[in-house]
This record gives sequence, C-alpha cells and structure tokens, in this order.
Amino acid sequence: MSSLPRAGLRLMHVHAHPDDESSKGAATTAKYVAEGVDVHVVTCTGGERGSVLNPKMDRPEVWENIAEVRRAEMDAARDILGVTQDWLGFVDSGWPDGDPKPPLPAGCFGLVPVEEGALPLVRLIREFRPHVMTTYDENGGYPHPDHIQCHLVSMYAFEKAADPEFAPELGEAWQVQKIYYHHGFNRPRTVAIVDAMRAAGLESPWEERLAKWKEDPEHDARITTRVPCGEYFGVRDQALLAHATQIDPDGHWFAVPLEIQQKVWPTEDYELVVSHVPASTPEDDLFAGIPVPAERMEA
Ligand SMILES: [Zn+2]
Repeated sequence: MSSLPRAGLRLMHVHAHPDDESSKGAATTAKYVAEGVDVHVVTCTGGERGSVLNPKMDRPEVWENIAEVRRAEMDAARDILGVTQDWLGFVDSGWPDGDPKPPLPAGCFGLVPVEEGALPLVRLIREFRPHVMTTYDENGGYPHPDHIQCHLVSMYAFEKAADPEFAPELGEAWQVQKIYYHHGFNRPRTVAIVDAMRAAGLESPWEERLAKWKEDPEHDARITTRVPCGEYFGVRDQALLAHATQIDPDGHWFAVPLEIQQKVWPTEDYELVVSHVPASTPEDDLFAGIPVPAERMEA
C-alpha cells in the first residue's frame, strides 16, 4: 500500500450532478488525494437537464448528446482530481423555472421516495467503507430539487448503512464516522473576496450578488471546519474547466485571481453534522479524531 501519510483513510462525497464535485470541495479533495486518502465521488444524477452554460459549447451537436457529453466531462474531472466515481443512476430533475414553479418531470430524482433513492447509496457506502462523508445541508446549499434530494438521501443512507438489520443484501453494515455539509459559498468569504478585489482596483462579478445577500450570522456560525487547501485551488479550477458545457472560462468562476483567493480565503468550509468519534470544533481537518487505519501497515 501507498506510503503517503494518510493512506488507508477514505472519503466519500455525495453530489447531485456532474460538476458539483468540482465546484464544491474540490480543493479539499485534491489535498486529501495528495496525502494518500482514497476519495470516492457519488453522482446522483446524470445532469441530463442541465443547460449549456458556456456560450462556446452552445452548439446543436452538444445539445443532442448532452448526456454523453456530460459523462465524458465527468471522466475528465475525475482523472484531474484523482478520485474514483460512481453514478447512482437517477435522472436530473432540472431547475423548475417559473412562478409558480412547474411540477417536476415524471421519473426524476426529486420525485423518487427517499427510502428508495438511498438504496444504491447504502450499497456503495458498504462497499467503499468511507470514514467520512460529505453532502449538502437541508436547503441543498442552493434550492435545486436534486440538491435537496441529495441531502435527504445522503442522511438516510448514512444512518441505514450502519444498521445490520437494514437491507443485509446490500452488504455488511458500515458506520461512517463523520458526516459534513459543504458551506464553501458562505457570505463572509464573499465579503472578504469582494473587499480584496476592490483594494486591488479590480472589478468583482460578485458585488451584485453580495448586495442582495442578507447577513445571516446564525447560518455563518454553522461552519465548524475550515480545511486549508489554497495550494490546490488550481487543481479545482482545472477540474471545473473539464465540465466545459457547465463552466464558461470567461465567466464569474474565474474572475477572481487565484492569488487573491489564496490570500484572503485559503480554506474550504464545512459543518460537522454527526460525529461518532470525539470531535472538538472548530477544527481544520475532516479526519480529525479518526486514526489512520492499521490495515495500511500490512503492506
Ligand atoms: Zn448541482
């Protein structure tokens, strides 16, 4: 087995769509991979109803093959991040546009009963046996129906995977030690970055968004864990760019120079939701309190 310091530790990220693994927590992923952690990404849907957000990719042949195109993009991002990945196989719910919102399309992930949607995830948890899992908070991070469903399915599977009475045909019970919510897009970070852009005399695409973003100290206080990973922001950006239909290289993702991000906010931020090991927060490591497994010594 690898001689890297954290070989033997395993981290599972559960995401709604291909590209979410690159826009949320990707620098954390790259850091842990570099330290020897096995990182597995579970993607709940194929992203079939995502739009083409990069004008350079807005072409008929892309639209006609959007499912395959997004699979190929995911393959590229997976290799850049150094992770393994599985699809849960559900169909994207799409963003319900309109007021009132239209009903979700038949058969989509958002309409699958949670107990059903969690079954393939329970199987994957019992196979991969992660020490740590991540998912979204109860609002999905942002209120896309697939993100909210991802939250529900993750929390249910986290609990049920550990119960030996539950669906024994899906594998031997496995207790994940800790589960976290992503809070990478928090308001204090955006304030810090907008301030730094102004100080550097640069125009920030986030000013407008920040003006509409109400202060919410209670929400900000939910962050328990800041993982230093600034040196991996470049890898995160490469993984994002691999999702060429979803990411405009000239868009807001890349408008803030890396050096500014690394200087003013060199962490990705999380909320520890459940821990089965003694944990003291604030902390700076998703694996805090979890020893490197002895199994790595066998090699
Ligand atoms: Zn998404």
